[in-house]
Parts: sequence; C-alpha cells; structure tokens
Amino acid sequence: KAVFERPAKTRIMTVTNQKGGVGKTTTTVNIAAALAKHGLNVLVIDSDPQGNASTALGVEHGSETASIYDVLIGDMTVAEVVQDSPEGPSLKVVPATIHLSGAEIELVNIDQRESKLKEALEVYLTSVNTDKETRLDYVLIDCPPSLGLLTINAMVAATEAFIPIQCEYYALEGLSQLLNNIQLVQNSLNGEIEISTILLTMFDRRTNLANEVAQEVRSHFPDATLNTKIPRSVRISEAPSFQQTVITYDSSSTGAIAYEQAALEITKRGAN
Ligand code: ADP
Ligand code: MG
Repeated sequence: KAVFERPAKTRIMTVTNQKGGVGKTTTTVNIAAALAKHGLNVLVIDSDPQGNASTALGVEHGSETASIYDVLIGDMTVAEVVQDSPEGPSLKVVPATIHLSGAEIELVNIDQRESKLKEALEVYLTSVNTDKETRLDYVLIDCPPSLGLLTINAMVAATEAFIPIQCEYYALEGLSQLLNNIQLVQNSLNGEIEISTILLTMFDRRTNLANEVAQEVRSHFPDATLNTKIPRSVRISEAPSFQQTVITYDSSSTGAIAYEQAALEITKRGAN
C-alpha cells in the first residue's frame, strides 16, 4: 500500500479555473478524499454558492446551516462552521449554502475584502496546528466558475494554485486570463501563490484531440502538470448523487484509482 507522507507544513491549494464544468469540484472532493483515506488531515472549503462540494462530501448545507458565508460576511470562525465529512475521520468541510450567492456583492463594501478568507483560515490553522495529531496537511478550496471576489479570496488565502483542465477543444481558452489574474494576485496581494499543480481531467485517450490538448498543456506547464490524467468515467459522475466521492462509492473504479494516483503524486512532488 502506498505511503502518503505528511508535508512539512500545511499546503493550502485553491482549485481554480473560471471555466465551469472542467472538473474543479470533482477534483477537489476526490483528491481530498484520497488524501484523507491515506491518513492525512484534510480540510475542504466549499467556496462555490452551488455547494456541490458540500453535497459530494455528505455534509449539511441547507439554508439554515452555518457556512463559509458566515465566515466571510459575518463574524463566525472556521472552527464554528466546520463539519466532519462522513467520507472519513480526517476529512473536514466548511460548507457553502445558497447565501454565498450574494457574497460577492456584499463583500464589495467590506474592509480588506480580498483577505477575509485568509484571515479566518490563519486563525483556524493557528489553533489546530499546535498539535501534531490535528495539524492540517492539506486545505483545498473549491472555487466558483468566475474570477470574482470569492476566487480572489481563495487565491489570497492559498499558497498554491491547482488548475484542472478538461481535455477538450476550448481547454486553453481563458487560461491566459486565469494566469493574468494569478499574476495580479502574486504582485499585489499574495506573493506566495504559485501554480503548483495542473491536472488533466475527463481524458478520453481514444481521441486525438484529448491527446493533443494534453501535450499542449504539458508543453506550457512542464513542471506543474501531473503525469496522472483523470479518465472520463461514469462512476465519477454518479458518485455525487449518492453524496459520496468516487473514492468511497467505487474504490476499484478507474476514476477512483486515477484520483488516488494523482493525490499520491501531489504528496510526492511537494509544494513546488
Ligand atoms: P466544475 O466544478 O469545474 O464546474 P465539476 O467537477 O462539477 O466541474 O464537473 C462537471 C461535470 O462533469 C459534473 O457533472 C461531473 O460529475 C462531471 N465529471 C467531472 N469529472 C468527470 C470525469 N472524469 N468523468 C466523467 N464525468 C466527470
Ligand atoms: Mg464546481
């Protein structure tokens, strides 16, 4: 059985790409579940008003539930809103509720609006990281498909950008805009953030197109692109309707194996 080593310090990754449907949420929940399955302490922050990551990880996120919205806009702490995921004992989730859909507008008039998440996460890390047992190994932030304030907050809080890219025709369209924004954040708000990880998703090896896209992505990002590609798999797309990740839903499926492999690669590569 593969050994997933703990990183020297908490790795905070924002899973981002302003295109919808490229596999951000699927990647967030399955990488998180794979890391947790192998004993690492993982926190998922659902920062998409759709709450799909909360659904897939089986946590409550009805409109009455305390959520990331209350952390960003109100005065609740991460510790007050975090929930345990039924996926595993070392996987925690800060859920998103429907209230988050108004947050980008509400944040506009708030001081330090770009660093609300960073501040809140720092307080949380300071409390849990004092104990080696509870110290978080990974924080994964699932972003909405836009480059608004929720995504900016995630980029400011994170040390690494993790970009899923769907192997299809328009895959690289919009990527330069994303890179620009990461650069802007790097220059002004968070000098620490780097594109550490790129994952090719929904790969269909039978098509030339998918292979061409994969090659092109690799040539642009030779260091960041993981060797593992995530295949198109019905099991992956079915899992959320059972409020599970594919890691739990069907651990021997090609999709689950690929996500575990990708997670192992992430642990081996370290932060850069
Ligand atoms: P995003 O968060 O970027 O909008 P999602 O992770 O929600 O993207 O994925 C979009 C859709 O594609 C979802 O219905 C999801 O179940 C499906 N999907 C994601 N990855 C795969 C895959 N490898 N194989 C099959 N379906 C997938
Ligand atoms: Mg999503």
